[in-house]
Amino acid sequence: MLIDTYGRVATDLRVSLTDRCNLRCTYCMPEEGLRWLAKPDLLTDDEIVRLIRIAVTELGVTEVRFTGGEPLLRPGLVGIVERCAALEPRPRMSLTTNGIGLKRTATALKAAGLDRVNVSLDTLRPDVFKTLTRRDRHQDVLDGMAAAREAGLTPVKVNAVLMPGLNEDEAPDLLAWAIEQGYELRFIEQMPLDAQHGWKRDGMITAGDILESLRTRFDLAPEGAGERGSAPAERWTVDGGPHTVGVIASVTRPFCRACDRTRLTADGQVRTCLFATEETDLRAALRSDAGDEAVAELWRKAMWGKKAGSGLDDPGFLQPDRPMSAIGG
Ligand code: SAM
Ligand code: SF4
Repeated sequence: MLIDTYGRVATDLRVSLTDRCNLRCTYCMPEEGLRWLAKPDLLTDDEIVRLIRIAVTELGVTEVRFTGGEPLLRPGLVGIVERCAALEPRPRMSLTTNGIGLKRTATALKAAGLDRVNVSLDTLRPDVFKTLTRRDRHQDVLDGMAAAREAGLTPVKVNAVLMPGLNEDEAPDLLAWAIEQGYELRFIEQMPLDAQHGWKRDGMITAGDILESLRTRFDLAPEGAGERGSAPAERWTVDGGPHTVGVIASVTRPFCRACDRTRLTADGQVRTCLFATEETDLRAALRSDAGDEAVAELWRKAMWGKKAGSGLDDPGFLQPDRPMSAIGG
């Protein structure tokens, strides 16, 4: 098991398949992009599958989420999913994507064994999308989501980040649209993980703001008496159900005490937390011919050292060197 000194057990593995992206969301990346990892530094498809096999067979991981950067840019994605689907025990597998290219790949991903997708969409307005992501691809994202729904990659969850002065007024419209389309909407509070260090606590749209805005149009009741377990999203039933909406309040209502995550970057580093400032190098172990048990032991040791919380509220909080796009949200 991947257990830490606070008794938390990590069963949910986030695997970043690339740090590259075809969008430039303002809360994530600068306009000019970033200095991408060099190809030899990236884990190969075989290395990724081996690490996931070790996680699933030796370390108790039951959920695998592929992310990035933009994971659909990884040429070997379908093959990686297919090989992971053949593992015993078979992990549940999902993908967090910006949706561009999903129209083309949804059927193949489903056939390979992917269970579902989370697609990121912050706005229903193409012009705002262009400002937020610095690319004119709104329709591609909508088409990708619809293709995922048709392919049975369900429930299709939609991740939305609200930014002051851009889309902060869109929460009710996004919810009405998601319900109509049959998608599950979750709002994510903006976190200090952008490469440009542009995040400001004062200016951010909080979970409280989002709920207040939603309540101007919908009746919301906490689902399961407000218990969210290890799920980061607090969920609310909308107008008596059955539809729900989630809010992931990593900043104002952190869920660190129930965290069940472990993360692997595209260059083979284990991270115990989005906000961790230390990493454990599994790629070096793989490339020096370490056996499965030695790699598993390194991973266990890394997780044993997981800190109690993100440290966001500590006076000395330091943003990690790796931005969100290189960690995998
Ligand atoms: N490119 C894919 C996508 O956008 O879905 C996967 C990677 S992206 C880093 C994963 C999620 O992180 C997205 O839903 C995105 O909106 C979210 N994200 C990125 N930067 C963020 C930030 N600074 N605060 C909160 N969420 C962020
Ligand atoms: Fe790319 Fe996702 Fe970051 Fe947007 S949030 S720039 S889509 S990695």
